[in-house]
Amino acid sequence: MKSNKTQYITCPFCSLHCDDIKIRSDGKSINVISEPIKNCTNKIEYFNLNKRSNLQAKAKNKYLDIHKSIQTAKSMLDKSNDITVVNHGTDVDGVRSILSFSASYNAVVDHVNSSHLYRNLGIMQRKGYMATSLTETKNRSDLVILFGNNILAKSPRIIDKVIFPKYSLCSSTKKRTLVLIGKFDLKTIRTLKKSHRVENLDIELDRIPGLLGELESGIKKTSMLLKLKNLIKNSKYLVCSWTSSDFDASSNPDHIISSISDFVLKRNEVTRAACMPIAGSLGDTTSSQTMTWITGFPARVKFNGQKFMHDRNICNSKSIIDNKSTDLVVHISTINPDKLQINKNLKNIVIGHPNSTFTYQPDIFIPVGIPGIDHRGIMFRTDHVVSMALDKVRDVGLLSVKEILNNLVRE
Ligand code: SF4
Repeated sequence: MKSNKTQYITCPFCSLHCDDIKIRSDGKSINVISEPIKNCTNKIEYFNLNKRSNLQAKAKNKYLDIHKSIQTAKSMLDKSNDITVVNHGTDVDGVRSILSFSASYNAVVDHVNSSHLYRNLGIMQRKGYMATSLTETKNRSDLVILFGNNILAKSPRIIDKVIFPKYSLCSSTKKRTLVLIGKFDLKTIRTLKKSHRVENLDIELDRIPGLLGELESGIKKTSMLLKLKNLIKNSKYLVCSWTSSDFDASSNPDHIISSISDFVLKRNEVTRAACMPIAGSLGDTTSSQTMTWITGFPARVKFNGQKFMHDRNICNSKSIIDNKSTDLVVHISTINPDKLQINKNLKNIVIGHPNSTFTYQPDIFIPVGIPGIDHRGIMFRTDHVVSMALDKVRDVGLLSVKEILNNLVRE
């Protein structure tokens, strides 16, 4: 690979999948040179190799060559009576190969964030729902309300790519207002207020349904409520956004999302309004899209010898692992910077990126490449309407998840 090459990449590390990240790479490590947000630079450069990176497979603390690691993993898989596969983030090909592999062992397949997915999906299935895309929000909205506490840290460029972009097709971003409702970082609010129209309402997340009710009924008339009510009344295209994991800190996340969705539906009786949920950073949308094409279900499936069956409770990997109702867990993790939660009372195989860390050493660790860094791939953007092509920018000799899992399929 050419040394010190400068190029644009599509970033695999959150569900916005920005395609304007300029990097310089010597074929081994990557330096972000265009990204103005420190959070994103940190996210991307975290995956550079360092002295703790594992480019070699391991069985506990013993190094193995790749062939031996596959043999050892295969013998564990063959001996197991019940296998659970947890996807902690990979690309479309990775998910496809997870499903082929799992079908050959009649394994359960789940995504680590599926509880967040089901929160949004439950509302869609039970009550009716109106959603919009990132592009529509960027080009048409005049009022955006973000609910939560951490969404700006999890999707750092949502402000400059979607809410206050430099260019917008049909509406002036100078006239657009952002309202932050929940527990947002005060420093971030102060910075945003310097260059944009921003309002904030600092309330506990559990208060959101009540607040939306008050905005509808107009019973309470505090000055902030009146201001908010006027902004909403005068808006021609309101977008409400959140990331489901922010509501983990509340007592009833489903109720909060349901109240936002109801509020949006009600607004549509008089004007245009839509929801724009932001998925998690672990290839959540890529997983749900690919699993739905192939199995008919977005997560929590098990192959029964003939087809994939879905059961939201029985195939919930977290409960399966917590209750030890499986004997072998296969973790697939190519973009997750966090420590993988390993249940030490079960057998564990991790197929993960070289900088993977764990709460407990797995029985086998097999290093794999990162889509968009070590090999080409495709990932879905949070709004499901765009699939982004990912490039290869370094070559450190790592195989992809697909290549490893194809070797582990039961013949
Ligand atoms: S916002 Fe997300 S996709 Fe965009 S550069 Fe930052 S981490 Fe990558």
